[in-house]
Amino acid sequence: MKLEPVIGLEIHVQLKTESKMFCSCPNHGDIEAPNINICPTCTGQPGTMPNINAKAVEMGMLISYALGGEVAGVSKFDRKNYFYPDLPKGYQISQFDLPISQHGKLTIRLNEGREGEREFSVGITRLHLEEDAAKLLHIEGGDGKSSLVDFNRAGTPLAEIVTEPDLRSPEEAKAFLQELRLIMRYLGVSDADMERGQLRCDANISLREIPDDPKNENWSTQFNPKTEIKNLNSFRSVERALEFEIKRQTKLWLDGQIPSILATRGWDDTRGVTVEQRTKEDSSDYRYFPEPDLPPMDLTEMRDRLSRMVPELPEARRRRFIEQYGLARSDARTFCDQPDLANYAEQVFSELEVWAKSVQTAGGQELTPERAAKLVSGWVLTKLNGVLSTHKLDLETMKVDPENMAELLTMVHNNQVTGTNALLILEEMVLTGIDPSQVMKEKNLGQMDDIDALREAAQQAIANNPKAVEDWRGGKTTAVQFLVGQVMKITRGKAPPEEARRILEEELGKL
Ligand code: ADP
Ligand code: ZN
Ligand code: MG
Repeated sequence: MKLEPVIGLEIHVQLKTESKMFCSCPNHGDIEAPNINICPTCTGQPGTMPNINAKAVEMGMLISYALGGEVAGVSKFDRKNYFYPDLPKGYQISQFDLPISQHGKLTIRLNEGREGEREFSVGITRLHLEEDAAKLLHIEGGDGKSSLVDFNRAGTPLAEIVTEPDLRSPEEAKAFLQELRLIMRYLGVSDADMERGQLRCDANISLREIPDDPKNENWSTQFNPKTEIKNLNSFRSVERALEFEIKRQTKLWLDGQIPSILATRGWDDTRGVTVEQRTKEDSSDYRYFPEPDLPPMDLTEMRDRLSRMVPELPEARRRRFIEQYGLARSDARTFCDQPDLANYAEQVFSELEVWAKSVQTAGGQELTPERAAKLVSGWVLTKLNGVLSTHKLDLETMKVDPENMAELLTMVHNNQVTGTNALLILEEMVLTGIDPSQVMKEKNLGQMDDIDALREAAQQAIANNPKAVEDWRGGKTTAVQFLVGQVMKITRGKAPPEEARRILEEELGKL
């Protein structure tokens, strides 16, 4: 029996609006003392009236367009009735039959530029807006019988995104969520940080048997009752919980106990297991009905404006980085996964173009686009990141502006400085913001162009290392590389490696 996982996700994204979904309270409850940002509306006092936050509607529409959804002409809010201590009104204002949008699709590339690269698409069933609940605080060391309620979060705007059951592995689920998070950041609608609850995910999973003839049309839409896993608050836990469920459900299948009813389970991150919870309500238990205090929204006029406001999205930017700058696919991805770094790289590229012209005028070796791509990925992606992490800095706190970065890369390109010393210069630039030519002069880190001195260093390296010379005589070519290293040491990194090697070989030939 061959089993295949069928996975669909329900994702909540907290929207970064100034105020809450239905009142004017500030929308940043998680950084404040409890119960500061509250009012009669978001605490559910009788007789209060909700007001729709237009900004939240715009953000919902923006996400919809980014996910290729069809935005409704008319959309309305509904009451979803249930009791829980974190829900002051006894119902949540949500959307039932007329959500903001439906029928979207997101295509994801896995393992880009690596082995196992492939693409898959996930249907977006719908996107609707709703309000978040309050937060319950179960105080540790308390009597275990009482909890506190913080209403700051109550009424925070949420976009709920529901996918089709199109995902086929935990790996796909994780990749999908990561791309979704990035899209939220590109849109500027949410920081979508899972650890901070700004992106929350429930994962639905069932198994099904792959038939002998998988091309059979009927089979492709046949699913079995699903299990919903709640409380997933990191990408890692989404992946682990799904892996655990696959194992658990596979065992049930093999034991002949195929799950036959819908189930809800929680994820226990410490124990690494899912645990049975109450069985799932279906929508009739919520007694949805139209929210009588809010008129339906006519979105036809906003649609035009919002559809044109969608910025360049991560995938389009990656393609552009590959085409426009000639970056390797995996490098383009690494850049675009970090919007700040991608912006920085774009500025460095544009400054490099200016430098490329000056190199040409000076009659140096042409700084081609291919060369520029290599320099930027090597120095911005790898070396700069390395220096930043050594000094616990980031792009905001470090001091190298794109113009200086491009100048340094041009110096490397022109062999005015060795790689080793360029790294020292970069470190100084990161800390002080001084431009590279000045650092080079002050610290005397320029490349040696004195051939006689270089030859002297080569002779010294040969004299000091008879063992390496012997190895070289015995045909060990790596011995030369060792000697180049020695020349570097003697010249304190200022020898141009290619030139040093040439002279070493000349000198060795004379022996
Ligand atoms: P419910 O009414 O229980 O919320 P929905 O049909 O609205 O169920 O689907 C909720 C989520 O569960 C969606 O993301 C959907 O893709 C996923 N889903 C639905 N059926 C299955 C199934 N058989 N196996 C796995 N996931 C499923
Ligand atoms: Zn309020
Ligand atoms: Mg549902």
